This record gives sequence, C-alpha cells and structure tokens, in this order.
Amino acid sequence: MSNRHIPILKVLLLGDMCVGKTSLMRRYVNKTFTSVYKNTVGADLGTKRLVINESLVNLQIWDTAGQEICGKLGTIFYRGADCCFLVFDVTSRKSFQNLSKWWEDFFSMAGIKNRDKFPLGVVGNKIDLENEREVSKREAQQWCKSFSVPYFECSAKDGSDVELAFESLAEKAVAIQ
Ligand code: GDP
Ligand code: MG
Repeated sequence: MSNRHIPILKVLLLGDMCVGKTSLMRRYVNKTFTSVYKNTVGADLGTKRLVINESLVNLQIWDTAGQEICGKLGTIFYRGADCCFLVFDVTSRKSFQNLSKWWEDFFSMAGIKNRDKFPLGVVGNKIDLENEREVSKREAQQWCKSFSVPYFECSAKDGSDVELAFESLAEKAVAIQ
C-alpha cells in the first residue's frame, strides 16, 4: 500500500540518558528488547502504522541519540512535533527531577503556542525493577497532575503498557488536528 496519503505524526522521546527511550521505541516498533546498552549515535527513527478512529496514521518516532550529553538538541529535532513523551526511569530519582528541564526545553524549542492542548505525556519506565524503585507511582502521578499531563508506567523490557502510552497520545494528537 502506498504511504502517500497516510498522515505522519511526529512523536518525540525526550529524557535523560539510559532511561530507556531507545528501548521503548524498539519495544513498540519491533516488539524486541535488548539489555545491552548501546548509546545511539546519530538520529534514531522508528515508524509504526496504526489505525485511529478508522483512519491510518504513521507514527514517526524520534529517539534522541546521545545529544542529551551535549546539552540542548537542535531545533530540527523539535520542529513540527505532534506528540512528545518525557521519559524517566523509576529507579533514578535524578531522571525524574530532570523532567522539568526537559519540559522547558521542549516547549521553548518546539515553539508550541498552546501548551495546554499539546499531546504531551510522561512515561515512568523500568517498572519491572520494582525493588529498585526511587520514585513512587503516587509521586509521579502528583507531578503529572500539577502539569495536567497523563502519566504512564511502562516497562520496555516486559512490554507493559508501552502500546497504551503511544496509542493514547497518538489518539489525542489526531483529535486536535
Ligand atoms: P536511552 O539512553 O534512554 O535510549 O536508554 P536505552 O533504551 O538505551 O536503555 C538504557 C539501558 O536500560 C539499557 O541497558 C536497557 O536494556 C535498559 N532498559 C531500558 N528499558 C528498560 C526496562 O523497561 N526495564 C529494564 N529492566 N531495563 C531497561
Ligand atoms: Mg538511546
């Protein structure tokens, strides 16, 4: 089938290094997981086609590729985003504390006018590591509530709620288009 008339939704994954952005994308797009850490070099893009309200859309998932360590990402990365996930690792309090930095970066760089309506969600990843948790579900929910954004708890390793997260935001993005 031709791709030509299928709208593309640009989905960004932002968050500290090692929180599992690449793994979430791989889990969602390829249904795979690897525990070997490989810092992404260059841009990592994944595409997934899905049906929302009986229409096809292509999710184009942009995974940040190690630029986290070099400070701000270029505007090319943010420009034209339709949805954005801020990802943290529930076993790393620091990655949770940095959410507000990612939040600011995103909204200042992407040039989004209506912040309230923009489909942005927070993912607390690695919930399979329950014993190593440093951020409780309740605390993360409270943070998200104060910013009026949805919160998803996922595991890229076992796959829990990964589809739910991507598909909920995509639905929201389609609804406002
Ligand atoms: P990125 O730097 O944010 O892209 O993080 P990666 O996706 O490369 O993951 C960093 C490390 O965390 C890798 O060793 C992954 O295997 C591991 N990892 C990612 N997601 C999960 C998860 O849900 N559970 C567990 N246990 N490990 C994970
Ligand atoms: Mg990565």
